[in-house]
Amino acid sequence: MVKEPQVTLKRVSHWIGGRVVEGRSGRSGPVWNPATGEQQAVVDFASVEEVDQAVAVAKEAFKSWRQTPLSRRAEIMFRFRELLDQNRRRLAELIVLEHGKTLADALGEVARGLENVEFAAGIPHLLKGSFSEQVSRGVDVYQIRQPLGVVAGITPFNFPAMVPMWMFANAIACGNTFVLKPSEKDPSPSLFLAELLKEAGLPDGVFNVVQGDKVAVDRLLEHPDIKAISFVGSTPTAKYIYETGTKNGKRVQALGGAKNHMVVLPDADIGMAADAAVSAAYGSAGERCMAISVVVAVGDNTAEALIAAIKERLPKIKVGPGLEEGVEMGPLVTREHRDKVASYIENAPKEGATVVVDGRQDPITKREGFFLGVSLLDHVKPGMRCYDEEIFGPVLSVVRVKTYEEAVRLINEHPYGNGTAIFTRDGGAARQFQFDVEAGMVGINVPIPVPVAYYSFGGWKASLFGDLHMYGPEGVQFYTRAKVVTSRWPDPSTSRVDLGFPQVR
Ligand code: NAD
Repeated sequence: MVKEPQVTLKRVSHWIGGRVVEGRSGRSGPVWNPATGEQQAVVDFASVEEVDQAVAVAKEAFKSWRQTPLSRRAEIMFRFRELLDQNRRRLAELIVLEHGKTLADALGEVARGLENVEFAAGIPHLLKGSFSEQVSRGVDVYQIRQPLGVVAGITPFNFPAMVPMWMFANAIACGNTFVLKPSEKDPSPSLFLAELLKEAGLPDGVFNVVQGDKVAVDRLLEHPDIKAISFVGSTPTAKYIYETGTKNGKRVQALGGAKNHMVVLPDADIGMAADAAVSAAYGSAGERCMAISVVVAVGDNTAEALIAAIKERLPKIKVGPGLEEGVEMGPLVTREHRDKVASYIENAPKEGATVVVDGRQDPITKREGFFLGVSLLDHVKPGMRCYDEEIFGPVLSVVRVKTYEEAVRLINEHPYGNGTAIFTRDGGAARQFQFDVEAGMVGINVPIPVPVAYYSFGGWKASLFGDLHMYGPEGVQFYTRAKVVTSRWPDPSTSRVDLGFPQVR
């Protein structure tokens, strides 16, 4: 049952103009502790007026922030990076408490977020323009990139610190001001990041957080002073955000869901492929958009050997509360989500799949908390719910195919195209796969190919709506717009009227 705010329950509010601002909308939501199943906090849900207040503050802050020298912006990013580094553990613990992932996993999330801050600290170099001298007699042309204004980020529950950093580090370094709408399921890490940014010297109003639900999101999508929207979340919401945001004249990048296939060719090292599949499928309880959820085994011998190797590894995975020593996999984020994931296992045999390992039978499910053990499904095929849909839980499906061509066709016909991987010892086959496959991020003997911060992150097909990928060079492009200047410093005595169209020769 959802509890009303009371003295013992923490209240998570907004961050506007450099301070915590308690919500006045009268609407709020519960924040659960997934490891105990108890409600641990109440999060305020912003009203339209509260979103407007945050946007107005950000708009005002933009006036001076865009004039702040690049060296100063870089200095703030460096300081923020140092503070993040010093507070890794505190931030990671906040993530574990509300998300449920293990401490080691949360520390990994912080480390990958920090990479994006390091990248953004190089902003003086990243914003260098281009210059062409003497494009015509005495005429020079140069291109500069300028910030957009107030930009917004809407983020998912599964990376409550890293995904906001994917967005705001570049956005702010480029000279924009930012309004973040975090997931209502784990809203606290964003406030801690706001505190660290302030301590790093970021002027008030440059970074703001509005907590909430669809009301806040819809207001951001239609607010005339929001110039761009970055979104990460599920595909139906991503599509809605893209369509509504662009209809309202905004620049939008909306990253959606995934179904990441890992192809295992007959020549692969089966032990290595099994280690990779298990790590990438069950890490973070499968609640990663780059999780491997389908193994495509080429040939029945490969499938048999791989399934045996995976089965051998599964009982050794320690499932439990994320802060407990030695735990490798935590609970799912909410009870509803756990039950939804379990429904795919329930349904699988009815559709013709085989349940090799059933996570619902794991003794961990007897504990309080939103626990589910690891599951393995075999003989999965297109048309089954467990294949067609993103499960986003600790369920790995095996699809058996006869040839490499069949494996590639399977991946290319799936609506999602976020990440994919191939395991083989054949360089030529790997090269061919990289060429053929329709996905935005490809791993060769790497199961979770999340690009480093100086490349950009993004899928293809229903995994991304918009043109530019997130963070890295494309992030800088997304948060700035180009201006091309043509200049001439002629001798006034040579000046004359000329109605002809300007030509360059
Ligand atoms: P979600 O789509 O439910 O929520 C994401 C954000 O959108 C939240 O802030 C939420 O409050 C808001 N939202 C939800 N429904 C909305 C609606 N109808 N209208 C307006 N706003 C709405 O996603 P989630 O469950 O928080 O996150 C998991 C999903 O995110 C998975 O599908 C996963 O694959 C995806 N994801 C994708 C990437 C990527 O890079 N492609 C990365 C991480 C997560």
